[in-house]
Amino acid sequence: MTTRNPHDGAHYGCIVVGGGQAGLSASFHLTRAGIDHLVVEKKTAMHKWCDERWDAFCLVTPNWQCQLPGHPYDGDDPNGFMVKHEILGYLDRFRAKVKPPILEHTAVTAVERHGSGFRVETSAGTFTADAVILATSLYGTPSIPRAAERLPDDIVQMHTVDYRSAAALPPGAVMVVGSGQSGAQIAEDLHLAGRKVHLATGNAPRCARFYRGRDVVDWLWDIGQYAITVADDGMGKKRHDTNHYLTGRDGGRDIDLRRFALDGMALYGRVQGVSGGRMRFAADLKTNLDAADKVYNGINALIDRHIAEKAIEAPPASVYVPLWEPAEEPAELDLAGAGITSVIWATGFRPDWSFVGLPIFDGIGYPVQRRGVTHVPGLYVLGLPWLWTWGSGRFLGVAADAEHVVEHLVGAVSAPRQLLAQAG
Ligand SMILES: Cc1cc2nc3c(=O)[nH]c(=O)nc-3n(C[C@H](O)[C@H](O)[C@H](O)COP(=O)(O)OP(=O)(O)OC[C@H]3O[C@@H](n4cnc5c(N)ncnc54)[C@H](O)[C@@H]3O)c2cc1C
Repeated sequence: MTTRNPHDGAHYGCIVVGGGQAGLSASFHLTRAGIDHLVVEKKTAMHKWCDERWDAFCLVTPNWQCQLPGHPYDGDDPNGFMVKHEILGYLDRFRAKVKPPILEHTAVTAVERHGSGFRVETSAGTFTADAVILATSLYGTPSIPRAAERLPDDIVQMHTVDYRSAAALPPGAVMVVGSGQSGAQIAEDLHLAGRKVHLATGNAPRCARFYRGRDVVDWLWDIGQYAITVADDGMGKKRHDTNHYLTGRDGGRDIDLRRFALDGMALYGRVQGVSGGRMRFAADLKTNLDAADKVYNGINALIDRHIAEKAIEAPPASVYVPLWEPAEEPAELDLAGAGITSVIWATGFRPDWSFVGLPIFDGIGYPVQRRGVTHVPGLYVLGLPWLWTWGSGRFLGVAADAEHVVEHLVGAVSAPRQLLAQAG
């Protein structure tokens, strides 16, 4: 680990805000380019993989898609899905290779214009820099609806970032709110542990794990889905899509909420509110299940077309037929009556860009940029889902985006400085 002592007024070629995999990928390329830089991280490098994931967490993306810069997946199971301690090991080895100049336990509180560069205020003092890379991700603050405040006091409630295991919850039934990637996997984790699970669904799509003899991710790779960029027609809207639910657990499998329902999980529509110890739901359970299956079958149909076009030999095609249909749309649930002692809010995150004092955001607060390059000279963004490709916010694509951003930065920022230095 390289840690630099901060002192007020120090100047850097670049300051990277955030020491997650995106920030360290930037550091890898900045070091390669010879740019004097500092990564400022409010906790510890890549801590989210340790601090904000449950015990049975494993990757949803296959291991071969771990392509951090200079550190492709280095294990012997490229088609498997690393579990938590393996992910942490992979990231430790990445950090050891990058040796980032990093200031941990230090929050950036403001980024502002300063001459032709930036002033970066932190909890450890003020720095200046020619360039700033924002690598703080969209997973800034856990988002919990205000309805949570109306839950009875004797119910334990938490966001997914604080969920660890069924054993860590009080005995009793559990309500999971949200059926995105985390909610669906946590509902499965509780279900496998023998808990009675109630799951309030949302509009997340789902995807098969394996189809026609291969991991669906492998087919989508061959089809070219991971090479599509937001510059392609209509792809910009992908940035705000919910992730598909499926799992890499135990070698990987589908998550089928209808199968869970057959096994005793209670399903509901979207949560509308809480009052008097009762939770109220929208009448959209059937819509949510049908929409998820439509996406599932649509992805498989895309694979069918590819197999037909390329005349690939593969096991036969199939269409998912619902295993279960809701007999009714439950409008509300008496939480105590159902024995619910815990509620897990799997309701996503809000980005926290409050420290950025520069006008780079659009109407919904998303940074306006092209592959990380904003219109403010020297200000860059990295690591967001669909920043450029599907893999941009993941282990797969952040390296290529980091390389692009640093190449731009070198051209726009450091070249004039080097010329000045030579002239001086
Ligand atoms: C539950 C979950 C499962 C996922 N599963 C997969 C998967 O299977 N495969 C895959 O490839 N990807 C997966 N991802 C997506 C992605 O790989 C992770 O979200 C990853 O952590 C993103 O890395 P990052 O560096 O962009 O952001 P983060 O890991 O969020 O890092 C941002 C860093 O910035 C720091 N920070 C924020 N604000 C400040 C500030 N003001 N000052 C200083 N520091 C600050 C934070 O402390 C944090 O360390 C998953 C994400 C989640 C949430």
